[in-house]
Amino acid sequence: TGNSSFVVVANRLPVDQVQTPEGTTWRRSPGGLVTALQPVLAQHKGTWIGWTGGTTKVGRPAPDPFEVDGMDLCPVPLSADEMERYYEGFSNSSLWPLYHDAVEPPVYKRRWWEEYRKVNQRFADATAKVAAQGAMVWIQDYQLQLVPAMLREQRPDLRIGFFLHIPFPPVELFMQLPRRAEVLKGLLGADLVGFQRPLGAHNFLQLTRHVLGLRPRGDSVELPDGRTVCAGAFPISIDFAEMERLATSDDVRRRATEIREELGKPATVILGVDRLDYTKGIERRLKIFRELLAEKRLTVPGAVMVQVATPSRERIEQYQSLRVKVEREVGRINGEYGRVGEPAVHYLHQSYNRAELAALYLAADVMMVTPLRDGMNLVAKEYVAARADNGGALVLSEFAGAAAELRQAFLCNPHDLDGVKELLLRAVKIEPGDAARRMRAMRRYLRTHDVQAWAESFLTALDRTGRPA
Ligand code: UDP
Repeated sequence: TGNSSFVVVANRLPVDQVQTPEGTTWRRSPGGLVTALQPVLAQHKGTWIGWTGGTTKVGRPAPDPFEVDGMDLCPVPLSADEMERYYEGFSNSSLWPLYHDAVEPPVYKRRWWEEYRKVNQRFADATAKVAAQGAMVWIQDYQLQLVPAMLREQRPDLRIGFFLHIPFPPVELFMQLPRRAEVLKGLLGADLVGFQRPLGAHNFLQLTRHVLGLRPRGDSVELPDGRTVCAGAFPISIDFAEMERLATSDDVRRRATEIREELGKPATVILGVDRLDYTKGIERRLKIFRELLAEKRLTVPGAVMVQVATPSRERIEQYQSLRVKVEREVGRINGEYGRVGEPAVHYLHQSYNRAELAALYLAADVMMVTPLRDGMNLVAKEYVAARADNGGALVLSEFAGAAAELRQAFLCNPHDLDGVKELLLRAVKIEPGDAARRMRAMRRYLRTHDVQAWAESFLTALDRTGRPA
């Protein structure tokens, strides 16, 4: 056994490699997860286990652990083949589409499974090595669903939590998954399995009955060996204070004004910020904007759309064809409704830092978050956190986890194009008083339901498992 009393296990380490004059070093990445967990890790001499992002030659020993911001980081190496089969294959071409309502058909290949299992075993072995006797271990997300059971097998002394950041599908869909029983048994290695929404926990418990013949009761299920596994909803959130601070800084406010000027001072700026992913509903959103322009219910240059589409999973075919379709639609809209120097859609296939995103949020009159399915959608929450001026309007898909909490948004069904069109127009024409009332209510909620509160509630619940109530 090792000496870490708290271990986080995630596909990625929370750092990015940066080049400095002194050579390459690591810098903490900007994600919310690391913001929430860094203080806990620093306080408990904790370790984070994950992949660094690059690939290594087969058979090379694992790189040495290193320290960043008081966190011990333990790299797990992946070869190019493993990355293709475990990460791009089973994780992102089988599980990702299946868990997102199969909005794109999942692809199953038998050799991907073998690699998924092997890589999960590597993460479990690394964890077993660093965790102290009785340590708390928190495993993250769909890439690592087998780790809880693999870890328990070696280390029954540990308290093991698992959190799924993406949706957990209904019984009928999950039943498609080859190796479904193994995946469920993997998760059941945990003491506590957390989901974004109560429905995820419900689906999971139903499946233990359906696939494994167990008898879930309330929010837990007892295993044949007498151990109890709990399931529950723990909706993830953002670092509210950080986004608010950023968005109220002079630099970001100046930049927001500048962005509106660069856009030609339109009356209405409609914004979308997404990874370029088929779950995000980008194509439909563009189509909606095109129809409103065609019907002259919106006109350029009075209304413009800004769509940030961050490059993502570019080696996977479905993502390549999505890019082609989205860019074709952008081209079509600009061809029909733009003018020299006045495009209708400003399409940005780039990744932005937090300050630039905050400025975009501040510059936007209407934020469109219209995924077909999304575990949470942090962009929606960030937009609200950035609007300390109580301005702006949020159009939000009911199929995003965030819709369960941001009830004052303009909630829409992204499949109902006419419905979304009406709602978007209402958001464009909103009275400032109504906008402020909605924004204030959502901000009040998020201020206390931030990512720090999320981590604390999960870890408190995990700590309580296995003890008499
Ligand atoms: N993001 C970013 N730069 C970009 C686009 C997005 O830093 O150019 C961040 C964004 O601020 C948010 C996260 O990436 O924190 C996206 O999280 P979300 O839950 O919205 O979607 P996901 O990409 O996890 O599916």
